[in-house]
Amino acid sequence: MPAKGKQGMRGARCAAVAAAATLLAALPGAVSAAPLRVLASFLPMYLFTVNVVGDTPGVKVEMMLPPSVGPHDYALTPGDMRKIASADLFVANGLGMEEFLGPPARKANPRLRVVETAASVAPLKEIPGKGHAGHAETNPHSWVSPKNAILQVRAIEQALIAASPGNAARFRENAAAYVRRLRTLDRAYEEASKTFRGRNIVTFHNAFDYLARDYGLTIVGEVETAPGQEPSAGEILALVRTIREKRVPALFAEPQFPTRTAETIAREASIPMRVLDPVDTGSTAPETYEKVMRRNLDVLKEALSGR
Ligand SMILES: [Zn+2]
Repeated sequence: MPAKGKQGMRGARCAAVAAAATLLAALPGAVSAAPLRVLASFLPMYLFTVNVVGDTPGVKVEMMLPPSVGPHDYALTPGDMRKIASADLFVANGLGMEEFLGPPARKANPRLRVVETAASVAPLKEIPGKGHAGHAETNPHSWVSPKNAILQVRAIEQALIAASPGNAARFRENAAAYVRRLRTLDRAYEEASKTFRGRNIVTFHNAFDYLARDYGLTIVGEVETAPGQEPSAGEILALVRTIREKRVPALFAEPQFPTRTAETIAREASIPMRVLDPVDTGSTAPETYEKVMRRNLDVLKEALSGR
């Protein structure tokens, strides 16, 4: 008898839930029944996506790479394959950064929509033999410039609207608010770039080429021309000579890589070593991109504006 009563209760509750769902579905802008599963490839794609999604109900955003792992030389794990298999939309940077998304990943989920967010970015050609080993001839580090970040956020907004038209109004509103903040960041870079006295810089690898292009800096050398590839003694000497000749005010290392070689070069050339963060790893808090890029701007101002 008690079991039957329980069953009856459950049946009634189910009916109530179904009725509520029908009501909700009838409301404009209501949540559609199936949740939208969005998988962002690595940290900046995740940060851009969560800012556009905000608290939209029924949209789940996951990041594929762990927040401490950058996309260079990444290989998919069985766990990643499971995430790919259950995702509806994959948010990629593109420009060859997600080479790990090979045919097996596509086969794991043939209906997966993939948005290559950097598709509308004016690409920077990579010098042959330089940059990421095995990469295409395009520099993939588009997201490191706020101007490109805005374009990539807009691409995510469009992809989300296409995948879940019922939530279009929310996505548009959230994207507009985020783009406003990114424009403020862009203006701060524009303002600072007018005050830079030195414009020739040396970076750790080619992660800041778009930033340099967009804000009037010239990268005259790199510590590592390919990630994980230590420079030879001859390359170090040549770099030190370039730093002196081009009056480079500072050498910029990255928190994602060991700084020992950069320190040696900076010491040899008698210039300070500073750290610029390309935001490919770090905190998953939604405001991280702006926060880190502001910190980068402070570092650039301190090093280049001669305060
Ligand atoms: Zn890189």
